[in-house]
Amino acid sequence: MSEPQDLNDATLRDRAVAAARGDAPFDLLIRGGQVADVAMQELRPADVGVVGPLIASVHAPGARADAARTIDATGLIVAPGLIDAHMHVESSMVTPAVYAQAVLPRGTTTVVWDPHEFGNVAGLSGVDWAVAEAARSPLRILPLAPSCVPSAPGYETAGADFGPAEIGLLLARPGIHGLAEVMDMAAVTSRAPRMRGIVQAGLASGKPVCGHARGLTGSSLQAYAAAGVTSDHELTSAEDLLEKLRAGLWVELRGSHPHLLPEIARALAALPACPPTLTLCTDDVFPDDLLESGGLDALLRRLVAEGFPALRALQAATFNAAQRLGRGDLGLVAPGRRADLALLRDLQGFAPAHVLRDGREPPLPVPASPRPDFGAPSLPRFTPADFETPATGPRARIAVIDRPRFTEWAEREVPVQGGRLALPPDLTRIAVIHRHGRAPAVPRVGFLGSWGEWRGAFATTVSHDSHNLTVFGHDPRDLAAAANALAEAGGGMAVARDGEVTALIPLPIAGLVSDAHLPEVAQAFRRVREALAAVVDWQPPYLVFKALVGATLACNAGPHQTDLGIADPQAGRLLTSPILEDGFP
Ligand code: FE
Ligand code: FE
Ligand code: FE
Repeated sequence: MSEPQDLNDATLRDRAVAAARGDAPFDLLIRGGQVADVAMQELRPADVGVVGPLIASVHAPGARADAARTIDATGLIVAPGLIDAHMHVESSMVTPAVYAQAVLPRGTTTVVWDPHEFGNVAGLSGVDWAVAEAARSPLRILPLAPSCVPSAPGYETAGADFGPAEIGLLLARPGIHGLAEVMDMAAVTSRAPRMRGIVQAGLASGKPVCGHARGLTGSSLQAYAAAGVTSDHELTSAEDLLEKLRAGLWVELRGSHPHLLPEIARALAALPACPPTLTLCTDDVFPDDLLESGGLDALLRRLVAEGFPALRALQAATFNAAQRLGRGDLGLVAPGRRADLALLRDLQGFAPAHVLRDGREPPLPVPASPRPDFGAPSLPRFTPADFETPATGPRARIAVIDRPRFTEWAEREVPVQGGRLALPPDLTRIAVIHRHGRAPAVPRVGFLGSWGEWRGAFATTVSHDSHNLTVFGHDPRDLAAAANALAEAGGGMAVARDGEVTALIPLPIAGLVSDAHLPEVAQAFRRVREALAAVVDWQPPYLVFKALVGATLACNAGPHQTDLGIADPQAGRLLTSPILEDGFP
């Protein structure tokens, strides 16, 4: 993969200068289009001459015709290739090669990849694989060093532990482009030694130190930024967006929480200009959404439809992101810059007619990713009894994790029958089973409130960020059936009802992704979503499918079930058993 130093080759620059002066032909001439100048916020009729990977000249229409090759861009808008400022390939459940194949034709030429799902499961070999995949991809993939492996040390067991030493080694590599989202916010602002060392390693590397400032406001936001973290994508409202922009953070505005976009687009449109610190990202895109709606292009369409001016949105998705990354070669259609271009049909749909990376149409189809040396997880078999909670009774008082997404501690008194809790229908079991061979694979059972009444179960080896096997449901027979389906498939997601499996998507690479093509993965995933909709009544925006795979993200505020129990790192609380009191009448 070519990187910035290639552009500094003197012979290349000689050729570009000669072509710009008119002393030599261009390799490629893009004629008849309008250049989207995101710095000047104007659309301007201009032709673009390219030499090798470099834009040599942006000049008056028709001024030149001498080129080895010409693209007729009549009616098209010549824009910089889109830059996705923060994302996880793993969320689309496909390999990096399949992901590249999906987004390149949609105009995304660069993605900033935090491979923290592979890191949490497969440790350094997971990150090594990500870096190797990035190097061979026609998509410009910029991997980061995952900062939170695990997300909440001491409160969960992932497949690896990255301390300051591992992070320092990763950041020293040229193939690693920054420190990925620092999610353990409490540890940052309490100056916990491990996280302090990790952030300091990021600062010492001179590479971007990226954040995850969920719910931070006032003095805690100031403290988080004061530690040296410089970005956030965890917006919860337009007010939150403005506070974070005012705190000087690079905001990676994400498309994965669409219910927020109308108010955010309105707030942004009311500003006099696009803040130079606004970038766009996808963060997590499920495979069916990727196939049907795309990635960053879907966010651009949405923002523009909500009233954010198109050139400003494009500035955020290109120039601003390039500045954030310290990549002056990217993000602008101008001489001397890199020819990563998307020739768009319009600024509503953002569909490209041509996409160029380094001045060339990237090779499609993308050759398949080689299988990594970490394979399918090996999981034990379970019986329904494994998901029961023994108690003496006649009644017990239990801790409950209340509400999806923004969780709270709650308590309930429940009857005990036959030596086990008799769970009322409005409580949902959540069992987390360690699956990385670093602790016994025993279900750690807890209880969720306000998750509706479950008529079946869901099991998943995708469970942010430790990705232990996580099972939800009411009837232990369903929980066992769903979990055993994944033991057989070597990881993935499964739905069970009346003791039978009703849908399954196998994800044999680390229990996170498939090596199948996107349409196949999307279809299997859609079946899982549909089967699950028959088992639980969704109540958007919080009780949605996405809440399932995030239910174990222990670094976020409030209680979360992990393989160690109910964890609330910000409150310093870990309950190994949900039973608070047993044996009262
Ligand atoms: Fe995040
Ligand atoms: Fe993220
Ligand atoms: Fe994650």
